[in-house]
Amino acid sequence: MRARPGDPAVKVLVIGAGPAGISAALQARELGAEVVLLEAEQVGGTNVNRGPAPVRTLARAARLVRDWSSWDRFGLRGPRPTLDLDAVLANSDRVAHHAHDTMDIAGHLRHLGVDLTEHLGPVRFTDPHTVRAEDGGCWRADRIVIAVGGHAAPLPVPGGRLALGYDDIHTMKALPDEVLVVGGADTGCQIASILEDFGVTVSLFEAAPTLPPAADPSVSVELGDAFRAQGMNVYTGTVVKSLRAQGDAVCLDYRSGPVIGQLVADTVFFAVGWPANLSHLALDAAGVHTEPGVIRRRVHGRRLDRRADRRTPARVPHLHRGDQHGRAEDLPGSGHRAFPAGLELPRIRRLTKRSPEPGPRSS
Ligand SMILES: Cc1cc2nc3c(=O)[nH]c(=O)nc-3n(C[C@H](O)[C@H](O)[C@H](O)COP(=O)(O)OP(=O)(O)OC[C@H]3O[C@@H](n4cnc5c(N)ncnc54)[C@H](O)[C@@H]3O)c2cc1C
Repeated sequence: MRARPGDPAVKVLVIGAGPAGISAALQARELGAEVVLLEAEQVGGTNVNRGPAPVRTLARAARLVRDWSSWDRFGLRGPRPTLDLDAVLANSDRVAHHAHDTMDIAGHLRHLGVDLTEHLGPVRFTDPHTVRAEDGGCWRADRIVIAVGGHAAPLPVPGGRLALGYDDIHTMKALPDEVLVVGGADTGCQIASILEDFGVTVSLFEAAPTLPPAADPSVSVELGDAFRAQGMNVYTGTVVKSLRAQGDAVCLDYRSGPVIGQLVADTVFFAVGWPANLSHLALDAAGVHTEPGVIRRRVHGRRLDRRADRRTPARVPHLHRGDQHGRAEDLPGSGHRAFPAGLELPRIRRLTKRSPEPGPRSS
Protein backbone atom coordinates (compact mmCIF):
# COMPACT_ATOMS: atom_id res chain seq x y z
CA MET A 1 0.00 0.00 0.00
CA ARG A 2 2.63 2.54 -1.02
CA ALA A 3 1.39 6.09 -1.61
CA ARG A 4 1.28 7.60 -5.05
CA PRO A 5 2.49 11.16 -5.64
CA GLY A 6 -0.25 13.59 -4.64
CA ASP A 7 -1.85 11.26 -2.08
CA PRO A 8 -2.63 13.10 1.16
CA ALA A 9 -0.17 12.43 4.00
CA VAL A 10 -1.18 9.76 6.46
CA LYS A 11 -1.80 11.07 9.97
CA VAL A 12 0.14 9.03 12.49
CA LEU A 13 -0.18 9.41 16.22
CA VAL A 14 2.42 7.87 18.52
CA ILE A 15 1.68 7.39 22.22
CA GLY A 16 4.79 7.49 24.40
CA ALA A 17 8.01 9.45 23.74
CA GLY A 18 10.62 6.99 24.96
CA PRO A 19 13.17 5.54 22.51
CA ALA A 20 10.53 3.34 20.85
CA GLY A 21 8.02 6.16 20.35
CA ILE A 22 10.68 8.61 19.16
CA SER A 23 12.00 6.08 16.70
CA ALA A 24 8.48 5.32 15.41
CA ALA A 25 7.64 9.02 15.11
CA LEU A 26 10.82 9.82 13.18
CA GLN A 27 10.46 6.82 10.93
CA ALA A 28 6.88 7.82 10.11
CA ARG A 29 7.99 11.43 9.46
CA GLU A 30 10.78 10.21 7.25
CA LEU A 31 8.24 8.24 5.25
CA GLY A 32 6.06 11.30 4.74
CA ALA A 33 3.40 11.03 7.42
CA GLU A 34 2.04 13.89 9.53
CA VAL A 35 3.10 12.84 13.00
CA VAL A 36 1.77 13.71 16.44
CA LEU A 37 3.75 12.39 19.43
CA LEU A 38 2.03 12.42 22.85
CA GLU A 39 3.92 11.94 26.11
CA ALA A 40 2.40 11.56 29.57
CA GLU A 41 5.51 12.90 31.30
CA GLN A 42 8.77 14.03 29.73
CA VAL A 43 10.24 13.16 26.34
CA GLY A 44 13.03 10.56 26.58
CA GLY A 45 10.98 8.05 28.57
CA THR A 46 12.45 5.68 31.11
CA ASN A 47 15.64 5.63 29.13
CA VAL A 48 16.66 9.23 29.75
CA ASN A 49 14.63 10.27 32.78
CA ARG A 50 14.45 7.32 35.18
CA GLY A 51 16.42 4.30 33.99
CA PRO A 52 19.87 4.06 32.45
CA ALA A 53 20.92 7.72 32.91
CA PRO A 54 20.36 7.99 36.68
CA VAL A 55 21.22 4.37 37.46
CA ARG A 56 24.52 4.54 35.61
CA THR A 57 25.42 7.62 37.64
CA LEU A 58 24.70 5.71 40.85
CA ALA A 59 26.74 2.80 39.47
CA ARG A 60 29.66 5.13 38.83
CA ALA A 61 29.54 6.45 42.38
CA ALA A 62 29.44 2.84 43.61
CA ARG A 63 32.45 1.94 41.49
CA LEU A 64 34.43 4.90 42.82
CA VAL A 65 33.78 3.62 46.35
CA ARG A 66 34.71 0.07 45.37
CA ASP A 67 37.95 1.18 43.68
CA TRP A 68 39.17 2.41 47.05
CA SER A 69 39.92 -1.21 47.98
CA SER A 70 42.64 -1.33 45.28
CA TRP A 71 44.21 2.07 46.00
CA ASP A 72 46.95 0.51 48.05
CA ARG A 73 48.22 -1.55 45.15
CA PHE A 74 48.58 1.61 43.10
CA GLY A 75 50.46 3.42 45.84
CA LEU A 76 47.52 5.58 46.81
CA ARG A 77 46.68 6.26 50.45
CA GLY A 78 43.60 7.62 52.12
CA PRO A 79 40.54 6.62 54.07
CA ARG A 80 37.59 4.81 52.48
CA PRO A 81 35.22 7.40 50.98
CA THR A 82 32.09 7.95 53.03
CA LEU A 83 28.75 8.22 51.33
CA ASP A 84 26.63 11.37 51.39
CA LEU A 85 23.42 9.75 50.15
CA ASP A 86 21.57 13.02 49.51
CA ALA A 87 24.46 14.30 47.39
CA VAL A 88 24.81 11.01 45.49
CA LEU A 89 21.10 10.91 44.66
CA ALA A 90 21.05 14.61 43.75
CA ASN A 91 23.93 14.02 41.35
CA SER A 92 22.08 11.11 39.77
CA ASP A 93 19.05 13.39 39.20
CA ARG A 94 21.33 16.11 37.87
CA VAL A 95 22.76 13.77 35.24
CA ALA A 96 19.26 12.67 34.19
CA HIS A 97 18.23 16.33 33.80
CA HIS A 98 21.49 17.11 32.03
CA ALA A 99 20.85 14.26 29.61
CA HIS A 100 17.37 15.61 28.94
CA ASP A 101 18.18 19.29 28.71
CA THR A 102 21.44 19.26 26.78
CA MET A 103 20.31 16.69 24.26
CA ASP A 104 17.17 18.77 23.55
CA ILE A 105 15.35 15.79 22.10
CA ALA A 106 12.10 17.78 22.06
CA GLY A 107 13.73 20.54 20.00
CA HIS A 108 15.16 18.04 17.52
CA LEU A 109 11.81 16.31 17.13
CA ARG A 110 9.99 19.58 16.51
CA HIS A 111 12.71 20.68 14.10
CA LEU A 112 12.04 17.51 12.12
CA GLY A 113 8.33 18.27 11.97
CA VAL A 114 7.02 16.01 14.74
CA ASP A 115 4.13 17.66 16.60
CA LEU A 116 5.15 16.79 20.18
CA THR A 117 3.12 17.42 23.33
CA GLU A 118 4.63 16.49 26.74
CA HIS A 119 3.36 16.41 30.34
CA LEU A 120 -0.11 15.33 29.28
CA GLY A 121 -0.71 12.56 31.80
CA PRO A 122 -1.64 9.20 30.29
CA VAL A 123 -3.81 9.45 27.18
CA ARG A 124 -6.53 6.90 26.47
CA PHE A 125 -8.46 5.66 23.46
CA THR A 126 -12.06 6.74 22.97
CA ASP A 127 -12.41 4.85 19.66
CA PRO A 128 -9.95 3.08 17.32
CA HIS A 129 -8.78 6.37 15.78
CA THR A 130 -9.13 8.83 18.66
CA VAL A 131 -7.26 9.41 21.92
CA ARG A 132 -8.06 11.85 24.67
CA ALA A 133 -5.88 13.40 27.39
CA GLU A 134 -6.89 14.15 30.97
CA ASP A 135 -7.14 17.88 30.18
CA GLY A 136 -9.75 17.14 27.50
CA GLY A 137 -7.34 17.44 24.53
CA CYS A 138 -8.36 15.12 21.71
CA TRP A 139 -6.44 13.78 18.67
CA ARG A 140 -7.59 11.74 15.66
CA ALA A 141 -5.24 9.81 13.38
CA ASP A 142 -5.30 7.24 10.60
CA ARG A 143 -2.77 5.08 12.45
CA ILE A 144 -1.87 4.99 16.11
CA VAL A 145 1.38 3.48 17.40
CA ILE A 146 1.49 2.38 21.04
CA ALA A 147 4.97 2.81 22.56
CA VAL A 148 4.15 3.24 26.22
CA GLY A 149 7.02 1.32 27.84
CA GLY A 150 6.56 -0.46 31.16
CA HIS A 151 6.79 -0.19 34.91
CA ALA A 152 8.24 -2.21 37.76
CA ALA A 153 5.94 -5.10 38.59
CA PRO A 154 4.97 -6.00 42.13
CA LEU A 155 5.45 -9.61 43.24
CA PRO A 156 2.03 -11.07 44.06
CA VAL A 157 2.98 -12.69 47.36
CA PRO A 158 1.50 -12.06 50.80
CA GLY A 159 3.04 -8.89 52.22
CA GLY A 160 4.39 -7.84 48.81
CA ARG A 161 3.41 -4.21 49.50
CA LEU A 162 6.21 -4.05 52.10
CA ALA A 163 8.82 -4.12 49.34
CA LEU A 164 10.25 -1.12 47.52
CA GLY A 165 10.90 -0.82 43.79
CA TYR A 166 13.79 0.62 41.80
CA ASP A 167 12.23 4.11 41.71
CA ASP A 168 12.12 4.22 45.52
CA ILE A 169 15.93 4.34 45.68
CA HIS A 170 15.66 8.01 44.76
CA THR A 171 13.46 8.73 47.78
CA MET A 172 15.70 7.02 50.36
CA LYS A 173 16.71 9.27 53.25
CA ALA A 174 19.36 6.94 54.71
CA LEU A 175 21.22 3.90 53.48
CA PRO A 176 19.88 0.67 55.05
CA ASP A 177 22.35 -1.67 56.76
CA GLU A 178 20.90 -4.79 55.22
CA VAL A 179 18.85 -5.25 52.04
CA LEU A 180 17.18 -8.19 50.34
CA VAL A 181 16.84 -7.83 46.56
CA VAL A 182 14.27 -10.10 44.92
CA GLY A 183 14.89 -10.69 41.21
CA GLY A 184 18.29 -11.42 39.71
CA ALA A 185 17.77 -10.05 36.19
CA ASP A 186 19.35 -6.82 34.97
CA THR A 187 17.67 -4.33 37.28
CA GLY A 188 17.94 -6.55 40.38
CA CYS A 189 21.63 -7.19 39.72
CA GLN A 190 22.24 -3.46 39.28
CA ILE A 191 20.45 -2.53 42.52
CA ALA A 192 22.23 -5.32 44.42
CA SER A 193 25.65 -4.44 43.07
CA ILE A 194 25.31 -0.69 43.70
CA LEU A 195 24.09 -1.15 47.28
CA GLU A 196 26.81 -3.73 47.99
CA ASP A 197 29.49 -1.29 46.80
CA PHE A 198 27.98 1.41 49.01
CA GLY A 199 28.63 -0.88 51.98
CA VAL A 200 25.16 -2.38 52.46
CA THR A 201 24.91 -6.11 53.29
CA VAL A 202 22.98 -7.53 50.33
CA SER A 203 21.21 -10.83 49.72
CA LEU A 204 19.98 -11.43 46.18
CA PHE A 205 17.17 -13.90 45.38
CA GLU A 206 16.52 -15.39 41.95
CA ALA A 207 13.99 -18.13 41.19
CA ALA A 208 15.92 -19.35 38.12
CA PRO A 209 19.07 -21.44 38.59
CA THR A 210 21.35 -18.63 37.36
CA LEU A 211 21.52 -14.84 37.30
CA PRO A 212 20.72 -12.94 35.22
CA PRO A 213 18.51 -15.79 33.96
CA ALA A 214 18.51 -14.76 30.28
CA ALA A 215 22.27 -14.16 30.01
CA ASP A 216 24.80 -16.39 28.35
CA PRO A 217 25.57 -19.21 30.85
CA SER A 218 29.26 -18.30 31.12
CA VAL A 219 28.32 -14.68 31.94
CA SER A 220 25.87 -15.91 34.59
CA VAL A 221 28.52 -18.05 36.25
CA GLU A 222 31.08 -15.24 36.26
CA LEU A 223 28.60 -12.72 37.61
CA GLY A 224 27.40 -15.04 40.39
CA ASP A 225 31.02 -15.79 41.36
CA ALA A 226 31.95 -12.10 41.32
CA PHE A 227 28.98 -11.17 43.52
CA ARG A 228 29.82 -13.92 46.01
CA ALA A 229 33.47 -12.89 46.05
CA GLN A 230 32.36 -9.35 46.93
CA GLY A 231 30.50 -10.78 49.93
CA MET A 232 26.98 -10.75 48.52
CA ASN A 233 24.70 -13.63 49.52
CA VAL A 234 23.32 -15.04 46.28
CA TYR A 235 20.31 -17.37 46.44
CA THR A 236 19.57 -18.85 43.02
CA GLY A 237 16.83 -21.44 42.43
CA THR A 238 15.05 -19.79 45.35
CA VAL A 239 11.42 -18.70 45.38
CA VAL A 240 10.26 -15.91 47.68
CA LYS A 241 6.97 -16.93 49.31
CA SER A 242 5.97 -14.00 51.51
CA LEU A 243 7.02 -10.88 53.41
CA ARG A 244 5.91 -9.71 56.83
CA ALA A 245 6.71 -6.75 59.03
CA GLN A 246 8.90 -7.46 62.04
CA GLY A 247 9.20 -4.25 64.03
CA ASP A 248 10.86 -1.76 61.67
CA ALA A 249 12.35 -4.60 59.65
CA VAL A 250 10.91 -6.98 57.04
CA CYS A 251 11.04 -10.78 57.30
CA LEU A 252 11.20 -12.67 54.00
CA ASP A 253 10.17 -16.34 53.71
CA TYR A 254 11.70 -18.38 50.91
CA ARG A 255 11.89 -21.91 49.60
CA SER A 256 14.88 -23.42 47.82
CA GLY A 257 14.06 -27.00 46.78
CA PRO A 258 13.22 -28.80 50.01
CA VAL A 259 14.74 -26.03 52.14
CA ILE A 260 12.46 -23.45 53.73
CA GLY A 261 14.15 -20.41 55.22
CA GLN A 262 13.70 -16.82 56.29
CA LEU A 263 15.83 -13.70 56.41
CA VAL A 264 15.24 -10.38 58.14
CA ALA A 265 16.49 -7.05 56.72
CA ASP A 266 15.81 -3.32 56.91
CA THR A 267 14.56 -3.14 53.34
CA VAL A 268 13.37 -5.45 50.56
CA PHE A 269 13.54 -4.39 46.91
CA PHE A 270 11.53 -6.15 44.20
CA ALA A 271 12.92 -6.20 40.66
CA VAL A 272 10.73 -8.94 39.27
CA GLY A 273 9.58 -7.80 35.85
CA TRP A 274 8.54 -4.89 33.71
CA PRO A 275 4.94 -5.21 32.45
CA ALA A 276 3.67 -2.81 29.80
CA ASN A 277 1.88 0.44 30.73
CA LEU A 278 -1.44 -0.61 29.24
CA SER A 279 -3.85 0.03 32.09
CA HIS A 280 -4.53 3.72 31.30
CA LEU A 281 -4.94 3.26 27.57
CA ALA A 282 -8.55 1.92 27.57
CA LEU A 283 -7.54 -0.37 24.71
CA ASP A 284 -11.01 -1.92 24.60
CA ALA A 285 -12.29 1.33 23.09
CA ALA A 286 -9.81 0.80 20.25
CA GLY A 287 -10.94 -2.79 19.74
CA VAL A 288 -7.50 -4.00 20.79
CA HIS A 289 -7.37 -6.98 23.08
CA THR A 290 -4.56 -7.86 25.42
CA GLU A 291 -3.66 -10.89 27.41
CA PRO A 292 -0.95 -10.88 30.02
CA GLY A 293 2.15 -9.98 28.06
CA VAL A 294 0.65 -9.78 24.56
CA ILE A 295 -1.07 -7.09 22.42
CA ARG A 296 -3.07 -8.65 19.62
CA ARG A 297 -3.11 -6.58 16.44
CA ARG A 298 -3.67 -6.92 12.72
CA VAL A 299 -1.49 -5.51 9.95
CA HIS A 300 -2.80 -5.85 6.40
CA GLY A 301 -5.03 -8.70 7.51
CA ARG A 302 -2.16 -10.63 9.14
CA ARG A 303 -2.41 -11.21 12.83
CA LEU A 304 0.74 -10.25 14.71
CA ASP A 305 1.03 -10.71 18.43
CA ARG A 306 3.50 -8.43 20.15
CA ARG A 307 5.08 -9.18 23.47
CA ALA A 308 3.96 -6.35 25.73
CA ASP A 309 6.19 -7.13 28.67
CA ARG A 310 9.44 -8.32 27.25
CA ARG A 311 11.46 -10.09 29.85
CA THR A 312 14.56 -10.08 27.75
CA PRO A 313 17.81 -8.61 28.98
CA ALA A 314 18.60 -4.93 28.58
CA ARG A 315 18.94 -5.00 24.82
CA VAL A 316 15.24 -4.07 24.76
CA PRO A 317 15.59 -0.73 22.94
CA HIS A 318 17.14 -2.51 19.99
CA LEU A 319 14.23 -4.93 19.87
CA HIS A 320 11.81 -2.03 20.11
CA ARG A 321 13.66 -0.21 17.39
CA GLY A 322 13.32 -3.18 15.11
CA ASP A 323 9.63 -3.40 15.91
CA GLN A 324 9.01 0.23 15.20
CA HIS A 325 10.78 0.09 11.86
CA GLY A 326 8.49 -2.74 10.93
CA ARG A 327 5.44 -0.84 12.09
CA ALA A 328 6.28 2.44 10.40
CA GLU A 329 7.04 0.69 7.18
CA ASP A 330 3.67 -1.04 7.40
CA LEU A 331 2.02 2.37 7.15
CA PRO A 332 0.09 3.06 4.01
CA GLY A 333 1.39 6.23 2.37
CA SER A 334 4.93 5.43 3.31
CA GLY A 335 6.30 6.20 -0.14
CA HIS A 336 7.39 9.76 0.66
CA ARG A 337 10.52 10.86 2.42
CA ALA A 338 10.21 13.99 4.55
CA PHE A 339 13.96 14.39 4.98
CA PRO A 340 16.92 12.58 3.51
CA ALA A 341 17.28 9.14 5.02
CA GLY A 342 20.24 8.84 7.33
CA LEU A 343 20.75 12.58 7.71
CA GLU A 344 19.11 13.33 11.04
CA LEU A 345 17.64 10.00 12.10
CA PRO A 346 20.84 8.29 13.25
CA ARG A 347 21.79 11.39 15.22
CA ILE A 348 18.54 11.60 17.12
CA ARG A 349 18.58 7.86 17.72
CA ARG A 350 21.97 8.25 19.33
CA LEU A 351 20.55 11.03 21.48
CA THR A 352 17.92 8.69 22.93
CA LYS A 353 20.52 6.17 24.07
CA ARG A 354 22.84 6.46 27.01
CA SER A 355 26.41 5.33 27.02
CA PRO A 356 27.01 2.63 29.62
CA GLU A 357 28.36 4.98 32.24
CA PRO A 358 28.66 8.77 32.27
CA GLY A 359 32.34 9.58 32.26
CA PRO A 360 34.02 12.38 34.19
CA ARG A 361 33.15 15.02 31.63
CA SER A 362 29.47 14.17 31.18
CA SER A 363 28.80 13.44 34.82
C1 LIG B 1 17.12 0.93 36.10
C2 LIG B 1 17.06 0.68 34.62
C3 LIG B 1 18.24 0.47 33.91
C4 LIG B 1 18.22 0.21 32.55
N1 LIG B 1 19.40 0.01 31.89
C5 LIG B 1 19.39 -0.22 30.56
C6 LIG B 1 20.60 -0.42 29.83
O1 LIG B 1 21.68 -0.42 30.38
N2 LIG B 1 20.55 -0.63 28.50
C7 LIG B 1 19.37 -0.67 27.85
O2 LIG B 1 19.37 -0.87 26.63
N3 LIG B 1 18.18 -0.49 28.50
C8 LIG B 1 18.17 -0.27 29.83
N4 LIG B 1 16.98 -0.10 30.51
C9 LIG B 1 15.74 -0.28 29.77
C10 LIG B 1 15.37 0.96 28.96
O3 LIG B 1 15.23 2.08 29.79
C11 LIG B 1 14.04 0.63 28.29
O4 LIG B 1 14.19 -0.55 27.55
C12 LIG B 1 13.62 1.72 27.34
O5 LIG B 1 13.43 2.93 28.04
C13 LIG B 1 12.32 1.27 26.67
O6 LIG B 1 11.93 2.27 25.78
P1 LIG B 1 10.40 2.50 25.45
O7 LIG B 1 10.33 3.65 24.52
O8 LIG B 1 9.78 1.22 25.03
O9 LIG B 1 9.69 2.85 26.85
P2 LIG B 1 9.94 4.05 27.84
O10 LIG B 1 11.32 4.57 27.78
O11 LIG B 1 9.42 3.59 29.16
O12 LIG B 1 8.98 5.19 27.29
C14 LIG B 1 7.59 5.05 27.30
C15 LIG B 1 6.99 6.43 27.46
O13 LIG B 1 5.57 6.30 27.32
C16 LIG B 1 4.95 7.21 28.19
N5 LIG B 1 3.59 6.75 28.44
C17 LIG B 1 3.19 5.63 29.08
N6 LIG B 1 1.85 5.52 29.06
C18 LIG B 1 1.39 6.59 28.38
C19 LIG B 1 0.10 7.03 28.02
N7 LIG B 1 -1.03 6.35 28.31
N8 LIG B 1 -0.02 8.21 27.35
C20 LIG B 1 1.10 8.92 27.00
N9 LIG B 1 2.33 8.54 27.30
C21 LIG B 1 2.49 7.38 27.98
C22 LIG B 1 5.83 7.15 29.45
O14 LIG B 1 5.67 8.31 30.24
C23 LIG B 1 7.23 7.04 28.84
O15 LIG B 1 7.83 8.30 28.70
C24 LIG B 1 16.97 0.16 31.87
C25 LIG B 1 15.77 0.40 32.57
C26 LIG B 1 15.82 0.65 33.93
C27 LIG B 1 14.51 0.91 34.69
